[in-house]
Amino acid sequence: MNELNPVMLAKGVFINNAWRPAASGRVIDVYAPAEGRVFAQIAAGTAADVDAAVKAARHAAEEGAWSRLTATERGRLLSRLAVAIADHAEELAKLEARDTGKPMKQARADIAAASRYFEFYGGAADKLHGETIPFLAGYFVPTERVPHGVTAHIIPWNYPAQMFGRTIGPALAVGNATVIKPAEDACLTPLRLAELAAEVGFPDGAINIVPGLGEEAGAALSAHPDIDFIAFTGSPEVGILIQTAAAKNHIGCTLELGGKSPHVVFADADLDAAIPVIANTVVQNAGQTCSAGSRLLVERKVYEEVVSRLNARFASLRAGSPEMDLDLGPVINAKQKERVESFFAKASADDVGVVAEGLVAEGVPAGGFYVPPRVYGPVPRSHILATQEVFGPVLAVLPFDDEADAIALANGTEFGLMAGIWSTNASRAIRVARKVKAGQVYVNAYGAGGGIELPFGGMKKSGHGREKGFEALYEFSTLKTLIIKHD
Ligand code: ADP
Repeated sequence: MNELNPVMLAKGVFINNAWRPAASGRVIDVYAPAEGRVFAQIAAGTAADVDAAVKAARHAAEEGAWSRLTATERGRLLSRLAVAIADHAEELAKLEARDTGKPMKQARADIAAASRYFEFYGGAADKLHGETIPFLAGYFVPTERVPHGVTAHIIPWNYPAQMFGRTIGPALAVGNATVIKPAEDACLTPLRLAELAAEVGFPDGAINIVPGLGEEAGAALSAHPDIDFIAFTGSPEVGILIQTAAAKNHIGCTLELGGKSPHVVFADADLDAAIPVIANTVVQNAGQTCSAGSRLLVERKVYEEVVSRLNARFASLRAGSPEMDLDLGPVINAKQKERVESFFAKASADDVGVVAEGLVAEGVPAGGFYVPPRVYGPVPRSHILATQEVFGPVLAVLPFDDEADAIALANGTEFGLMAGIWSTNASRAIRVARKVKAGQVYVNAYGAGGGIELPFGGMKKSGHGREKGFEALYEFSTLKTLIIKHD
């Protein structure tokens, strides 16, 4: 993890609380995005490892020690893991920052959030109740929430530690046994967290983790005939493959597939409060956040003022390495850098102007995948900058004329993950918030990815199903109705 030890070898695949080499014997190089060079290798898990992991999970779910724990005991284990994560916060934050390139302060916040997921679901585990249903005379009809059994979790590289907590926290709380396929670009913290979970006492098979390529380990996991549910966060293209695989096995899935989330700024908005939040929601994690606020819709009357404030704000923003701990880090890899730069090139070719810009800091390591944060405006409504997810620190500003226009524009993409409404007119803010099609709508605030307590997920092509909050306990369980005749 330092210059003297440039390449660390992750320990393999984690099955039944033990490390083993991948059956393929192959490894995958992992790049440090801040330096643009290989710093670690992970095991290339394939179908054989996935099969072993699913078998371990099946045993844990149905016969092993995990299956015999009460809800309270499961909750205690989750709470213990939350404490262990907090106790290892600095080690984990450094690992996360090296693997993803994000600034240390962001990595620290992410590890705190990962701990908080286990704290929240630890407390929630024994509070998921059934109901009793009035029925015919002589019958007693209770319902019970039961786990699916074996849940598969395919997660992305942008927030590896948080995603681990977000997806398995609720699944474990209700008693599923889990198999996780983390992203090949960044997965070292999930591997370490699985190990910590074993140390705090999670029984064999409750948490199994198979790193590997998406088209190998990911495809094998999503198509495995003995999984009962899939939770996926990633691209819309792979989302289609996941839902198709789930359909072939007749199982359910949740898909969280990103967005092009709007901020809607009315002329009466408190711009002092709004502008720093708006800038941050597209710069956080170098814009590589599904719920980034990447479209800024502004009432025409205040367009010039908003743009000038953004200009001042972005002028001070700097991209740098984790250790420099600036406003944003690099993007994840060379491909992602090329993607962001292709949007820059398209904007330039189409004469869409840069109205605000930050810089890549001087002295960043050569070879790192840095891009400057940029704001473009006015962006034509049909331009790809206004319609497609960039997954980089790029904000598109579009003016609107009135409330109806604002709503149409806010709803004018294929996505529907989040939105922020900025207005001091409470009636209007509520009216607009209720008409915008998105899973979460903030009023005079915006929490890109924030709020473990808050149900989160998409409408339209942002996906379906809800994670986070108490709602995730329903998603990761199913309802059983007992119909008991007693007369
Ligand atoms: P991104 O473009 O952000 O990398 P992906 O959708 O490609 O998003 O990746 C999200 C997760 O899905 C990663 O863990 C990746 O390995 C996995 N993945 C990629 N391709 C497949 C596939 N064909 N089947 C299952 N999982 C996949």
